[in-house]
Formats: sequence, C-alpha cells, structure tokens
Amino acid sequence: MRKIDIIYIEGDGVGAEITPVMIDVLNAAVDKAYGGEVALSFEEAYAGGKAEERFGDPLPKETLERIREVGLAIKGPLMTAVGKGRRSLNVTLRQELDLYVCQRPVRWFTGVPSPVKRPQDVDMVVFRENTEDIYAGIEWAAGTEEAGRVIRFLQDEMGVSRIRFPQTSSIGIKPVSEEGSKRLIKAAIDYAIATGRKVVTLVHKGNIMKTTEGGFKRWGYELAHDEYQAYEEGGVTWIPAGGGPIKLDDCICDAFLQNILIRPKDYSVIATMNLNGDYVSDALAAEVGGIGISPGANINYLTGKAVFEATHGTAPDIAGKDLADPLSLVLSGEMLLRYKGLDKAADLVLSSVEKTIASGALTSDLYKLTEDKEHCRLLGTRAFGDELVKNL
Ligand code: NAD
Repeated sequence: MRKIDIIYIEGDGVGAEITPVMIDVLNAAVDKAYGGEVALSFEEAYAGGKAEERFGDPLPKETLERIREVGLAIKGPLMTAVGKGRRSLNVTLRQELDLYVCQRPVRWFTGVPSPVKRPQDVDMVVFRENTEDIYAGIEWAAGTEEAGRVIRFLQDEMGVSRIRFPQTSSIGIKPVSEEGSKRLIKAAIDYAIATGRKVVTLVHKGNIMKTTEGGFKRWGYELAHDEYQAYEEGGVTWIPAGGGPIKLDDCICDAFLQNILIRPKDYSVIATMNLNGDYVSDALAAEVGGIGISPGANINYLTGKAVFEATHGTAPDIAGKDLADPLSLVLSGEMLLRYKGLDKAADLVLSSVEKTIASGALTSDLYKLTEDKEHCRLLGTRAFGDELVKNL
C-alpha cells in the first residue's frame, strides 16, 4: 500500500469548518479511486490562533520543521497578525521553505454565477513569482532616518534627481533576478509541456520598468531558447513539445487585465511577477466565482516541497455559522492529489464538484449571486461537503 503523508493546518476562522470537509472529500476520493492501494495520512500541525493558544506562538518551529520534513502540506486560512514585529504566517511559510511558485488554476464550473458573458472561456493556470519583486518587504517609511539615508545615497552617490518629494517619500526596493525569474518561468513551461497546454504568456510591465519587469520578459525568452530549443516562425516564438509546439508570448499587464475580459480564450498558462500575479489571480478568480471557490498552491519545483492552501482569508464575518464555501480548500486538495500523481482521485473530485454544482447545490457566497434561485438549493458548509462525498 502507498501511504502519502500530509501535514494539515486547520486555519483560523472558517478553517475549522472547511478543513474537515476537505479531509473527508480527499480520503473518500482516494478510497474510491484506488481501493486499499493508496491511503492519505493526515497529521495536524499547529499555526495561527490554535498554536497561539497551545504554545503561545502563532508559528511554532515544530510546525515549520514538520512541513520541511514531510514536504507536503495543506492549510486553511491564517489570520495575519497586526502589529509591529509580528510576522505574517503565510509569508513566513513561503519564505522559510522558498516556495517560489504561487500556482492558481482558474476555471469555471457550470452553474457558478459569473459577472462575464462567457465564463466557460476562462481556463488558465497562473504561475506567480512568490519571493521577489516589490513584495520582498524591503521598505522604509517616510520621515525615518533609514528612508532619509537611502534617499541621500540615491541622490548623492547614484545621481538620482527624480524623487519628486524627497522629504516626505517612503522608499521601497524591487528586486527581480535572472535566477528567480527563470526558475518561475521554467516551472510554467514545464507545466505546459506536462499538461499539453499550448500557450505560455509572460505578463509584465517592462515598457515602464525596463530592467526589472523588462528583465523578467527577456530572461523568459532567453530560457526558452537556451533550455527548450525554442525557435521563431511567423514572428512567433515556439517551444517544441510532444503533441505540437507551445506558443510563448508576452503581454503588458494592464492590457492583459483587459484581454482576460475581452478574449480569455487566447491565454492558458501565465507566468508573472509577484505584484502583477496578485492582481491577475484575483481578477481571474472573480470571473469564475470568486475567492470562495479558487484554489492555490505554493510550490518549490526544485525541492518538491509544496503547501496547498485556501486562497481566501479567515472570513471572520461568517466564521462559525456553517456558511463558508469549502471549495477553495477542496480544490486545493484536488491540486495536491494531482501533484502526487493521484490523477484518478483528482478527476473524481473535479467531477463531483461539477455534478454537485450542476445539481443546484450552492453555499451562501454563490447562492446570493445566482439569478437562478428557483433551480438552486442553499446548503451549509457541512451539507455541501456531504454532497461532494456522495457525488464522488
Ligand atoms: P477574507 O477572504 O477572509 O474575506 C473577504 C470576503 O470573502 C468576506 O466577505 C468573506 O465572508 C468572504 N469569504 C472568504 N472566504 C469565503 C468562503 N470560503 N466562503 C464564503 N465566503 C468567503 O478577507 P479579509 O476579510 O480581508 O481577511 C480576514 C483575515 O484573513 C485577515 O486576518 C487576513 O489577513 C487574513 N487572510 C489570510 C489569507 C491566507 O491565509 N491565505 C488570505 C487573505 C487574508
């Protein structure tokens, strides 16, 4: 029997409601797909409020150690501690384990209310760089000694004259490296090759930020030529792959945000930097039903370590009321199954989600948006989870 160890973090707020649903659905899917040949072994690790209560620390080092050792985890949402000196738990996990890919598949399930006319045309997987960019957290507040020193250094030693209001400027640093860009873009290209997707788009703002975002784009094409024997034909860059070549193109981020509304069919795999990726992921999620239903993963494809996660927050307004949509976490679990090569179980989860939603079952986030209330049933978190298990 193949046993797969998984560390799980229940999460704060709605985490206590959606995590047990995710575990039940994944266990039942694996049982159904493989009989007794594969078993998932879930082990709880503590982070967030539960860890604070038990150990006085929202991210005990034992939790990090266990995730590092096992290399595979899934987590509910964690409250971001507000206040000086407190680390964001999500950011700490990503940084400590160098989980450089934030991977977000975006697809539509028939019956999910959407603000666009043809949500069925949206089928993309976003690879967002997770460790660099203006999100690296290197910044100093206006009026501090540190901001003053950086500004004086820029003016006196680097000849910078374009800081419009030096006395009252905060300063942030945007590191974007060749190494960081190439490993992210490589993950996106490898994914396209492995899954038979036919377009990889580099989304950037290199027309304005020429060395950082422009570098990202340039390094992407360089990688494709150096490591994948890419070639030019008809003014397009092609990457050879089984089942036909993959088109590699690029798009300025602002135009991209228009294009995903106007012609989403043109896009399939997206490789982008941290800040763009943040905006793009949420804009795409909104087209197919919102954050309650959007899955995600943070992965280091070089070490294999991966943390799958609900992409939404702790939803304090609905926590404890049996109102939360468990699909973001359940679909993150589906990604986990696929990541471990358990495609048969993952396919069962997807078809169960399709069947459940097509039957009219919806949790409150989607029910309140649907115009077709006559054919829909409002279910609580647990009842919706039971339907998912039943429909496997
Ligand atoms: P949120 O995602 O918790 O909530 C935003 C809105 O979406 C709320 O109306 C909420 O009810 C709704 N919502 C979220 N998840 C839902 C679900 N599964 N089903 C139905 N509705 C859902 O964002 P917020 O209110 O800005 O943040 C609350 C807390 O969560 C903060 O402490 C924040 O830092 C944290 N947070 C954590 C993560 C994470 O762990 N990955 C992500 C975002 C925010």
